[in-house]
Amino acid sequence: METVSEHVDLRSDTVTLPDSEMREAMANAPVGDDVFGEDPTVNRLEEEAAALLGKEASLYLPSGTMANLAAVLAHTRRGDAVLVDPESHIFYYEAGGTSLFGGNQLWPVDELHAGRGVEMLQKAIRPPNIHFAPPALLCLENTHNRRGGTVLSPEEQDALYAAAREYGLLLHLDGARIFNAAVAQGLAAALYTRSCDSVMFSLSKGLGAPAGSILAGSSSFIQEAKRYRKALGGGMRQIGILAAAGLVALERRHELEEDHRRAQELARGLIQLPGLIIDPYPPPTNMVMLHTLESGLYAADAVEGFSELGIKTLPFGEHTIRLVVHRNISDEGVEKTLQAAASVFERQR
Ligand SMILES: *Cc1c(COP(=O)(O)O)cnc(C)c1O
Repeated sequence: METVSEHVDLRSDTVTLPDSEMREAMANAPVGDDVFGEDPTVNRLEEEAAALLGKEASLYLPSGTMANLAAVLAHTRRGDAVLVDPESHIFYYEAGGTSLFGGNQLWPVDELHAGRGVEMLQKAIRPPNIHFAPPALLCLENTHNRRGGTVLSPEEQDALYAAAREYGLLLHLDGARIFNAAVAQGLAAALYTRSCDSVMFSLSKGLGAPAGSILAGSSSFIQEAKRYRKALGGGMRQIGILAAAGLVALERRHELEEDHRRAQELARGLIQLPGLIIDPYPPPTNMVMLHTLESGLYAADAVEGFSELGIKTLPFGEHTIRLVVHRNISDEGVEKTLQAAASVFERQR
């Protein structure tokens, strides 16, 4: 029953496949109409997820994009400014949804996730003035996708949140991979969510469920978000079939540690090849950002070279490739990738 790809697919951790245990849980899930709040499996998932994140309530949504969007809609009014990192998923990859549906102005803050984040944030928050869109919400991302799976510690997040709160901003955490952060630092996930008003995480990435994301926060916030989920077309019916996979995925969260170990192994092997740079090094979580400039290969050519050898990777810039390790990548897959890399990059010399 399990579909096993002959390729080693390192493009993303979204490509993870449900295994037979997960499929069995899905087949056996008790279900009901979730728009009426009557799906017992969804209700259980929402309760467990809220407890894990130390929040009053949570909501199951079809995707992380919809969860982020529902959060921004629930936290803001039309015309409000939403402060984000310019490399964040919300700014970069969500089709401008908050502008399209919320009438918000996304306001990019450079270096938000770097050492000078608090200072940069304070500079970006503009005082009340009829010329300015009033800043209402700060969004952080942890782990950070376009910054190579980097982790903000609970203390770093707290400092940014405290600075934002001084100006009356609300706080949303795009924690699509928050369990990767928690596992990497050996801390409880709730520490990363203690100072935010809402948090989203993906069940469909490294955790391995076929679909779904969770949005968590106060009960009144979740009530609002539920209305927006309905308006966005995200109210689904006997969806316990999918939520059951989410419950299995949540139980497996500690296994993300294996992905991190394999990402480090992959990185250790790759930097031994001439002209290859990995940054950040060592990879903080499950992503390996490979820079090919000094090897003389463009990312697109390297991706094609890998592809010919059965390794799928994603170009992430002119000279950057992203390789994401996940639960369907074995030690053998890492070994196969390193052999392919030797051939792709040595062919070049
Ligand atoms: C994938 C991702 C999302 C969106 O999740 P989808 O389920 O793909 O819509 C949001 N934020 C981050 C950081 C992500 O990596």
